[in-house]
Amino acid sequence: MTEPTHDEAHGGALGSRLNWLRAAVLGANDGIVSTAGLVVGVAGATQSRSALLTAGLAGLLAGSMSMAAGEYVSVSTQRDSEMAALAVERRELREQPEAELLELTELLAERGLSREVAREAAEQLTARDALRAHARVELGIDPDELTNPWNAAWASFLSFTVGALLPLLAIVLPPAGWRLPVTVASVLGALVLTGWSSARLGAAAPRRAVVRNVAGGALAMGVTYAAGTLLGATGV
Ligand SMILES: [Zn+2]
Repeated sequence: MTEPTHDEAHGGALGSRLNWLRAAVLGANDGIVSTAGLVVGVAGATQSRSALLTAGLAGLLAGSMSMAAGEYVSVSTQRDSEMAALAVERRELREQPEAELLELTELLAERGLSREVAREAAEQLTARDALRAHARVELGIDPDELTNPWNAAWASFLSFTVGALLPLLAIVLPPAGWRLPVTVASVLGALVLTGWSSARLGAAAPRRAVVRNVAGGALAMGVTYAAGTLLGATGV
């Protein structure tokens, strides 16, 4: 194979699996933080378990559906532009194969192959699957692995829901006096885990990611709790 290893890190099977995993962890993280902020805020204003359950469940559904819809729209748009680019490429290959062979040769030469080797590689890649070669080398996409927008939407829906369930259960299940400490402790613990894994999956230093992630979650809960307490105290 003549594909440069640089592309493998992004487009390879392992790379795309890690990207999916990282997206799932970040989706769960969103679910944890936004739902925790919501239920802790409501807990600042009321002791009512049914109010907490209603608010948490509404937050879970609203958040997971908005994440799924956003993901669907963004992946569909990306897919549309990738398919349009592939269509242009297909037409060019049909109408001007010589110019396309020259183009592929030059792109490969730019990546460090000698003229002769680049020409030889371009000819072999063109003979095997010209469109695929141009898609990968020129456009940086794999025509067999375009992301399905429904899969992407489902993945965000599920990961957000899994994350959101944690603060929802933590605020609803314990007796009244234990709700806040249990929720805060389990949320901060989970944020250590998601911060650490997303950093590891993205090959970044975990410690700073964990600190930022936990600080972000603590801030979200602190702000909504203060707001909820204020509203509860004034009886709005
Ligand atoms: Zn081309």
